[in-house]
Amino acid sequence: MDDYWKQRIFSKSLGNIFNLRAKHFDKDIEPVLHTLATAYETFLVEHTKSKENCKKSYIFDNQAIFFLDPNLRTFDATYFDEELRQFRYQVTNLKVSDVMLEDGTALDLDTFCNNTGIRIREAKFRCMRDAVLDAYARYRKTDLFDKTVSDVATSLCRVKKGSRHIRKILSPSRLEFVPHNIIKFAETTECVFNNKESPLINGLWGKSFFDNATRTFLFKLHNNTLGLNARISHFVANQSRTCTFCNLTRNPDPDVDETVLHLFFQCRSTEPIVLGLQSWAINNDQQYQTVSRKNYFGIYGTENTSRNVIMQIVAALIKKYIWDCKTRFAIPDLESGKDFIRYEMDRIISQSGKMYKAYFASDLNFIGDF
Ligand SMILES: [Zn+2]
Repeated sequence: MDDYWKQRIFSKSLGNIFNLRAKHFDKDIEPVLHTLATAYETFLVEHTKSKENCKKSYIFDNQAIFFLDPNLRTFDATYFDEELRQFRYQVTNLKVSDVMLEDGTALDLDTFCNNTGIRIREAKFRCMRDAVLDAYARYRKTDLFDKTVSDVATSLCRVKKGSRHIRKILSPSRLEFVPHNIIKFAETTECVFNNKESPLINGLWGKSFFDNATRTFLFKLHNNTLGLNARISHFVANQSRTCTFCNLTRNPDPDVDETVLHLFFQCRSTEPIVLGLQSWAINNDQQYQTVSRKNYFGIYGTENTSRNVIMQIVAALIKKYIWDCKTRFAIPDLESGKDFIRYEMDRIISQSGKMYKAYFASDLNFIGDF
């Protein structure tokens, strides 16, 4: 029973289970196998288009490799007709590398016939070869990162944990997703960040106007590797999980874990400082300003884009200030927080022309007079 479906799959494949097509299965009679084959066929086409896998893709009835006659046609059974009768296995398993060399140049008919054993008319061969070169021109990558090639069997048989490399082929391009570290960071801060916000968060640690210590801190924060007590306690024996500030101030609640959300936002020693510093930066303490967790851990969403940029830097500096307090075992305090931010921001805008302009376009004025 268990082997039956494997036999069905194999018998309907083109002599190679890595070259499966949905139309060979009847949807009503074998719905499960049909669904499997449909999903696989989608994978096959997407695999051809990603990286430079095209170089090693199957040609036979591959939706990604086609010609116009005048409608779009693939190199299917109708196209190969007589060749298929004589050379069924060779034709259905033809690969791009059988008609094109590694460097993208075309093979001639004689070499093709010698290598594959297929006899085919010159015009037919040319049509297929041109379509293959076309497909390669369409899918080839300019980015070095994307220039790797693997055939479909290698991709599927790769001994790698999880299905990420397969999902990568089936899902939209890299830029359209929220990176893994930001998904985790969003979870730990109980926020939601979309694919437009995440590059702004991930871009922060690369800014050269921050000093090295701040950049390292931001990198660890957004990659969820900061040495917080709740994390360290997993690796170090006798390490308390409790918040440093709660310990110092003898918080009557002894079970507060030092997590990102607690230490930087919810701790009774930091919450008034975070809110106070943000109100101060926004309107010089004239009016209390409540700030959302999402603005503080992510980005600001006001209509003034310069203000958003500056406030994201302020929020980063507030977190850095809190972190410095934690490592020095000092309780954060509003006035020294202001001093820290004023000093750092002054240094940043005197170093970066772009930030200088942004600060003045932001209508914020927390640094004071120059
Ligand atoms: Zn605490």
